[in-house]
Amino acid sequence: DIRIANTVPGETPRFVITGEISSIYKKDGKTRKVHNVIILPSLEAADELSSKLEAIGNIHSDGRPILGLDSRDLLEITLETCPNAEFIPAHIWTPHFSMFGAFSGFDSIEACFGDLTPYIHAVETGLSSDPPMNWRVSALDNLTLVSHSDAHSPSKLGREANLLDTGLTYPELVHAIRTREGFLGTVEFFPEEGKYHLDGHRNCHVCLTPAETIQFGGICPVCGKKITIGVEHRVEELADRPIGYRPDNARPFESLAPLPEVIAACTGKSVSSKKTQEQYEEMLHALGAEFYILRQAPIEDIERTAGPCIAEGIRRLRIGQVERKPGYDGEYGVISLLSPSEIEQFNGQISLFGAEIPKKTSKQQSKIQKSIIPESKETAAASTREHLNTEQQKAVSDLQRVVAVIAGPGTGKTKTLVSRIAYLIEKQGVKPEEITAVTFTSQAAAEMRHRLEKSLGGKYAVSRMTIGTFHAICLKLLGDIRLISEGEAMEIAEELLQTQSRNESAKHLIQAVSLIKNGASFETAELSEELYTSYCSRLQELGVLDFDDLLLEAQKQNIDRQKQFTYLLVDEFQDINDIQYQLVQKWNKNGKNLFVIGDPDQSIYGFRGSSGRCFEQLEEDSPDIDVIRLVENYRSSPEILQTAVPVIEHNPGKPRSLTPNQPSGIAVRVIQTADDFSEGIWIAKEISRMTGGVDMLEAQSLGHTQHIRSFSDIAVLCRTHRQLELIEKCLRHDDIPCIISGREDFLTADDIRGTLSFFHCLQDPGDVAALRTALKLLWNCPADLMEYTQKICSDQTEWNLENLQNAFQGYEILLQMLERIESWLPLIQKEKPWKLVQQWEEKYGSSPALEKLKHTAVFHSNLQELWNALVLGQEADTCRTTEKNWKSGAVHLMTLHGSKGLEFPAVFVSGVKSGILPLESTKHPADIQEERRLFYVGMTRAREELILTFGAEPSSFLSELPNTIKKETITPREQPAEQLSLF
Ligand code: ATP
Ligand code: MG
Repeated sequence: DIRIANTVPGETPRFVITGEISSIYKKDGKTRKVHNVIILPSLEAADELSSKLEAIGNIHSDGRPILGLDSRDLLEITLETCPNAEFIPAHIWTPHFSMFGAFSGFDSIEACFGDLTPYIHAVETGLSSDPPMNWRVSALDNLTLVSHSDAHSPSKLGREANLLDTGLTYPELVHAIRTREGFLGTVEFFPEEGKYHLDGHRNCHVCLTPAETIQFGGICPVCGKKITIGVEHRVEELADRPIGYRPDNARPFESLAPLPEVIAACTGKSVSSKKTQEQYEEMLHALGAEFYILRQAPIEDIERTAGPCIAEGIRRLRIGQVERKPGYDGEYGVISLLSPSEIEQFNGQISLFGAEIPKKTSKQQSKIQKSIIPESKETAAASTREHLNTEQQKAVSDLQRVVAVIAGPGTGKTKTLVSRIAYLIEKQGVKPEEITAVTFTSQAAAEMRHRLEKSLGGKYAVSRMTIGTFHAICLKLLGDIRLISEGEAMEIAEELLQTQSRNESAKHLIQAVSLIKNGASFETAELSEELYTSYCSRLQELGVLDFDDLLLEAQKQNIDRQKQFTYLLVDEFQDINDIQYQLVQKWNKNGKNLFVIGDPDQSIYGFRGSSGRCFEQLEEDSPDIDVIRLVENYRSSPEILQTAVPVIEHNPGKPRSLTPNQPSGIAVRVIQTADDFSEGIWIAKEISRMTGGVDMLEAQSLGHTQHIRSFSDIAVLCRTHRQLELIEKCLRHDDIPCIISGREDFLTADDIRGTLSFFHCLQDPGDVAALRTALKLLWNCPADLMEYTQKICSDQTEWNLENLQNAFQGYEILLQMLERIESWLPLIQKEKPWKLVQQWEEKYGSSPALEKLKHTAVFHSNLQELWNALVLGQEADTCRTTEKNWKSGAVHLMTLHGSKGLEFPAVFVSGVKSGILPLESTKHPADIQEERRLFYVGMTRAREELILTFGAEPSSFLSELPNTIKKETITPREQPAEQLSLF
């Protein structure tokens, strides 16, 4: 075995005599397979031990000898033969061959070694686990966690390593292993890279987290056989401490990957390619030993030898900025350092500007070096908690059965919710699987995951929690169902209206159905019960659910045994409707704790059945409730709060208390322009000025007190999408990059619905609703032919083109579709969604809607993700850009509804005019209050600067502002003819 070698820079390596023996035996009625490593002081000792073992079994087999000998007895024989041998259980977590292995190991060291347990001084953590995973098992506290390379070939030497500061003798080596004196720590693989990190089936391409394995009852959802349990799962089973726990005497560690892999991950080449191997050799020659290159070589030196990509990759590796795809069931995990576009970018920079890669100075570098070794995973979380105020802290740690935090905007409700999850895991030992957090948008869920990853120091714990919108959570609970998109729903509605020869609009039907499914009456929704029923039966016939069905179906589910709801947390509680309220109650019925946060003054979805009254309802329904109120606002300047609060106080209720915590800043401005158009132009000019101006004059007019903003610091909010369109045009005209979020009308255009459904069919051939939509909208297929196709395709799980060729013979339309399927099928896995749309446009012609779709697709890395965003997304979840370079910063354009929960340094609320705010159709006082809340939500998104604009008639809400607010009227300068021609 070549497990341990001493390497000192500049010296030839020295080897230690080691051997690994596999013991397969029966103990306590079960077959055990355990691998152990033996370290010996001399070849003589090795000879002696060999001859003893030879008497017991065949030790001449290739590679690793296998003996039918109990691990304990092997240890005894070893110690008898050579008292100063060191005996170490090998890679203790691998499922099939180790002391703690899920399939053939033991639950404790004592169970394995019995009376000889005290002679075990160390355990190998193996490639699939790293020290933090082992720290969770208190039984390992007094053992040294060693990391050996288990190198089956010389090139794998040093995949993992121990960092020792000892003399180069056997006794000193063993002394360090036994006492940890001179044992400085270890160099680790990323545990996700190991072949058995997560659970799954290699042949079925199924990779599961422990929670998912439990959910599937340990059975592979593809083949129905037992799932191979990975290391993480097994650690979770034996752990008696929460994630992130670090014992006092723990040794530090660094995570690295083999240099050839790093090169491959930085260049996009494969590890075995000639290029990679050459680069590897070259680096070794130019820079020195592999460990030195990975751990210590100055990044500048690496860049000089190996170019900017590899230099950047190694820099990221050192600070742990690594994307990991976990290994499972014998499949190695993969780490990624640079994305293809980043590789392009780094290489591009070189060719354009020379070596213009952001460099770290050597001082910064040495800082990074130190930071490789994580101090304690708790520090990050603790530092986020440190700054919480007393009331927030109370909200974080209150374990009353039900806790409600009712507080105004910017008081840190969402921050508190995130801190509470970290607290539950780190301080209360709650398992991530027991936690569900409900957010209002998918984007908010992503943000929450991101913040938790930061505070818990890794992705893994977060991946085991349930975080998502009500709909996403229900979809997951329901498992194998077929959900249709809005586009398909429209198609079904159109078909239905046609067959019944009705002339209502499909859009109205869909909207009305949604209202009814959310609790509205037929009268309110303005829809006949009969039409509603036939729409629902049509969905049933097709075997599909629509968006609103998700909640209704989830309500029928029996979830008594769902551990995931033990701790249930809900953000934006003021906007949940009756059905969602009931789901919350049902989910947490047998749970331990319900934590809800929100602000009744920000309840803006009344038209969908929500009501800020849900807090009162909850208080009535929960005898054990703690209500916590937060009053410190950390978001907005005093000027902004002094503007916003008086407005909301025009709604009923006690005076609102919201204490500013930010320093005094820029006065709020109210800007009146001649009309909507000049308002748009003014906003574009103002954004140019705020961002440093397009010319010197504008830059100077910024004055000394204001700093230059980046585009992404700025948001423009409007009541309706239509208003945003005008703003977008004006900003585009001035070359200001924008990201427009919201469910825009183009998504329901025929060609978009057709194209998207077609793409979706390619991935899911059995989705008949998508198939029908594509056939109808792309080929105008007659109804009988659709029925025919549906019958043939409904049971398909894969496209069987040959069969279809026969079945479609003689039907021109179907053959056309088949041809298209054939040519697109190879592309959909491979190409990014925006590229697919682009190629589609090149082949079949472009349209403004398709252009918009392309600019939406850029936000998603694969088709499934794009589809999910469109099907499950809320108002704020679909985004579209106007520029290719949106990544370098863009102004956010969104509706007031879409802005909920977000914050920006500078906010324009545009179109604060009569007829728009409150919206014209609003007559009822309750609805006017909701419009006022919308305005309030918009204003309170601003951190430093708030600008309210309107063309023509001001909104009545503006008269509710305190009269200290300055109003400016902009008289139109000469209107450039060029601009006019644009519209
Ligand atoms: P909204 O009602 O708009 O959703 P919120 O109550 O959820 O607002 P957060 O978004 O959690 O508020 O916090 C608003 C801002 O205040 C964030 O930038 C957050 O980081 C900051 N913040 C919250 N609490 C504190 C604190 N104790 N110290 C410093 N900053 C804080
Ligand atoms: Mg919030």
